[in-house]
Amino acid sequence: MSISNQSNIHKLAGSDAVSVRSVVDVCGVLFGGPDLAIAGGPCCVESKDQLFAIARYIAEAGVKLFRAGAFKPRTNPYSFQGLGPEGLQLLQSVKNEFDLGIVTEATDLESFSDVERVADLIQIGARNMQNFALLRRAGKCERPILLKRGQGATLEEWLSAAEYILSEGNHRLVLCERGIRTWSNHARYTFDVSVIPAAKTISHLPIIADPSHATGRRDLVIPCALAGVAAGADGLLVETHCQPSTALSDGQQALLPTEFMTLVEQARKIKSQLQSCNANS
Ligand code: PEP
Ligand code: MN
Repeated sequence: MSISNQSNIHKLAGSDAVSVRSVVDVCGVLFGGPDLAIAGGPCCVESKDQLFAIARYIAEAGVKLFRAGAFKPRTNPYSFQGLGPEGLQLLQSVKNEFDLGIVTEATDLESFSDVERVADLIQIGARNMQNFALLRRAGKCERPILLKRGQGATLEEWLSAAEYILSEGNHRLVLCERGIRTWSNHARYTFDVSVIPAAKTISHLPIIADPSHATGRRDLVIPCALAGVAAGADGLLVETHCQPSTALSDGQQALLPTEFMTLVEQARKIKSQLQSCNANS
């Protein structure tokens, strides 16, 4: 089966819309540039102590972007829903203290402007990939957007969602593969590694991998992250926590601090080897 860019439906996301691939600058980190763009942090904001402890080793690893959700789109209404505005304030203090760019999710129209004030890169999560009102709002905002793939979305549907954002005028857009639902049940989702080169063939947008949500299992995160980088991902979004067993969400997939450091080192090596292979071919 082949999938080609249908320029009539992906007028702005399709590879023939521009002459050079898009590069999105988030606080000096280039998504689609020569180096790997990495964002790390916990699933959700829990407390100042939790955030600062994690931000310390994120910064020490030379990672410039910190991820954590203040508003959490949870499958079950009784699960922790995030600290909301208080969580955003805590993220602002991480930014001030550690000089890290903030990646955080906007889940609805109501809180979008509050998120916009703090975030350097606004995440639209998998569950909202086809929330068209939210996509249009993201298209009107001043911040770059990280658009996750819906759990059941095809590449074409994902690029159509991207089109909603682009067509409102926001061209600073990064795609993120975070796993899709299949019949496989050894992992939380199935990490679709082939969608990375497939997306790069038909779209000019940068694409990163989220091996944390894609696998839901700490032991699978590093191998899948490295596979994503080897397949051409422009970056990684990775969950990490100092004490995963106490995490209020997604602790089972959070890398320990030392594992996070190892991943960053290995992923950067693979990316630079790929760069030199491509330069020599
Ligand atoms: C997250 O990044 O914490 C998250 C909820 O991601 P996803 O939308 O991919 O499930
Ligand atoms: Mn999470």
